[in-house]
Amino acid sequence: MRVGVLGGGQLARMLALEGIPLGHRFTVLEGAPDPPAGVASTVVAAAYDDPDGLAAVAAAADVVTYEFENVPAGSAAYLAARLPALPPPGALQVAQDRLAEKRMFCELGIPTAPFHPVDGPEDVDEAVAVTGLPAVIKTRRLGYDGKGQVVARSRGEVEAAVERLGAGLIAESFVAFDKELSVLAAAGREGGRAFYPLTENHHREGILRVSYAPAPGLTPSLQSEAERLAGLVLDRLDYVGVLAIELFEVGGRLLANEMAPRVHNSGHWTLDGADASQFENHIRAVTGMPLATPRVPGPAAMVNIIGELPDPGAVAAIPGAHLHLYDKAPRPGRKIGHINVTGPDEATVMRTVARVWELLPGAGELPRATGW
Ligand code: AMP
Repeated sequence: MRVGVLGGGQLARMLALEGIPLGHRFTVLEGAPDPPAGVASTVVAAAYDDPDGLAAVAAAADVVTYEFENVPAGSAAYLAARLPALPPPGALQVAQDRLAEKRMFCELGIPTAPFHPVDGPEDVDEAVAVTGLPAVIKTRRLGYDGKGQVVARSRGEVEAAVERLGAGLIAESFVAFDKELSVLAAAGREGGRAFYPLTENHHREGILRVSYAPAPGLTPSLQSEAERLAGLVLDRLDYVGVLAIELFEVGGRLLANEMAPRVHNSGHWTLDGADASQFENHIRAVTGMPLATPRVPGPAAMVNIIGELPDPGAVAAIPGAHLHLYDKAPRPGRKIGHINVTGPDEATVMRTVARVWELLPGAGELPRATGW
């Protein structure tokens, strides 16, 4: 099948690299020069809302999907009128707005931190009454990797954050979580479902640094609760494709933080740690193939390469380390690759992650798995 992808970054690259062996061909729409997906796809070089670019992708594809949720609504509608656009544009719409997303979670009975919309200083009192302090003030749209959000510890700090970030905000209670987890779910065009084991995620400055999977200490009941919650979202959105939900674990309970209607950084470990990756299952889903039930033979980890490249040869020399580079120019704070780690047991994986970490320039202290 001919698959179109909006966006030509690393996610599109990995979708194509995993989809080509299944017999598919890829065309990506990407305005930035030299996109990472270019090695594995035909590139239509245009902006995501360029009418000619959209027409070219629609003509070159039997199904279209996305590597990011901030696809302009008009572009998604244009494509969906011409060919299957999956996940459905309604899922993008919800995921583009943190408030819509949290309201949907609430309607579905999925627990979240208390939240309140904020559009200006006049909303601060009401918001703080709901969230308490500290609160996290976030832009409702276009925030990613910790951008567009502020932790406010006093009413004055909330006001200052609102002044700085402008209108269209959401205030949330600051969650003193025990762990950050994510669940990756896949839904097929014919109704099949697949889930990956919960992943434990460690962020710094709002950017994912390291993931461990299956999440250390994961119990069957926590896994089935996460799958139940994800299933509610898949049902509500008539979802097709891979969906990620970021969760906080607090005292054994799960709170939903946000969702991504696409393959997700916290699922990159599945390229080496599962026998069917999130990328493969996303492509299977949107092209109408049966989903693969992923088998996860042992523990795995994923270390993001951010800002500066390690010596590729030195990484490759470490047994159990799997290097994935994205062909992106190094720049501070930019994700330019990741290293997956697999091994026979948790202690070995943890030791290997520590060796990999040593090779990352300026990485600081390693966020260790809780309990490995
Ligand atoms: P987000 O963009 O919502 O995924 O936030 C990025 C990161 O900021 C999360 O992965 C958490 O580490 C942290 N964070 C976001 N919201 C909250 C919250 N309500 N309470 C505590 N930490 C948060």
